[in-house]
Amino acid sequence: MILPKTVPLVQKPTTLHPLPRLSRALGGPELWIKRDDNTGLALGGNKARKLEYLLYDAVHGGYTDVITVGGIQSNHARMTAAAAASLGLRCHLVLRGSQRERQGNLFLDHLFGARVHLLHPGEDREACMESLAAQLRQQGRRPYCIGVGGSNSLGSLGYVAAVQELHGQMEAPDMFSHTVVAVGSGGTYAGLWVGQTALHWSTHLQGIAVDQEEFEPIIREIAEDSAERFGTPLPNDETLHVDYGHIGEGYAKPSQAGMEAIHLFAQHEGILLDPVYTGKAAAGLIFMIRSGLLQQGQRVLFWHTGGAPALFAAVDTFEQTS
Ligand SMILES: *Cc1c(COP(=O)(O)O)cnc(C)c1O
Repeated sequence: MILPKTVPLVQKPTTLHPLPRLSRALGGPELWIKRDDNTGLALGGNKARKLEYLLYDAVHGGYTDVITVGGIQSNHARMTAAAAASLGLRCHLVLRGSQRERQGNLFLDHLFGARVHLLHPGEDREACMESLAAQLRQQGRRPYCIGVGGSNSLGSLGYVAAVQELHGQMEAPDMFSHTVVAVGSGGTYAGLWVGQTALHWSTHLQGIAVDQEEFEPIIREIAEDSAERFGTPLPNDETLHVDYGHIGEGYAKPSQAGMEAIHLFAQHEGILLDPVYTGKAAAGLIFMIRSGLLQQGQRVLFWHTGGAPALFAAVDTFEQTS
């Protein structure tokens, strides 16, 4: 498998290590973690791996500006802004959300010099991105548009490569009976899923949805496009697993179980999760342990995808619940 070229943004490999104190506290399988919260770019997270592929395309295609979209506390937006700054690209962010205080990721977006456009309720973000791109072209600039989460076939190659990286770290390709990861726009899961098939990684890859969307068709489409464009193998649908039981009230709305997971990881391992993605993914993992789906004798991988900067925009929620 020969992957396209990248710009270097990620400090690789990210650490793989066990979580002995959390494993003991939960009394189930031996838990391990892959630390993509520490990818090294501007406080870390999974989007750096996708941006290595997407921004190579932008830089070498002669583009001058990058536009992307997301929620007001988008980690993807923050990392795109930082990466663009480091590559000399101008960055425009189209963001949706009610919280307007410059905290967490939104604060950092401004610090990285991104031009932030806030959407009005009901306004379509893709349409807004397109009209902004048209305006920029009229001014003689060349904008490169990245859809939500950088989740297209090119971006998801970052996670195909991440499986390759993990293979160099595991004791054996069947070391983990299960791997648990958050699903927000599908690109991370799609890349892991394709990588799993390409590299014969033996694990039950369990996605935990953090939004109400139906992710299977999205993930399948990314994998099909990747097969067509990059010659990656097409995975079997029977190995595609997304659990919708841990979304709570909706995207970016903190859940009780997610908050408990954040406290457990912080107080047993000194590891930061976030209320939007990884807290809910960890809630899914904890549910699987407590319901007996995961047991002693197994080793289970939690793929950390970052997100901690959003904690600072959620301090009020923590004060209300603890
Ligand atoms: C974007 C994001 C995810 C979800 O990844 P997708 O590829 O969009 O599914 C998970 N965790 C964090 C912290 C994220 O920022």
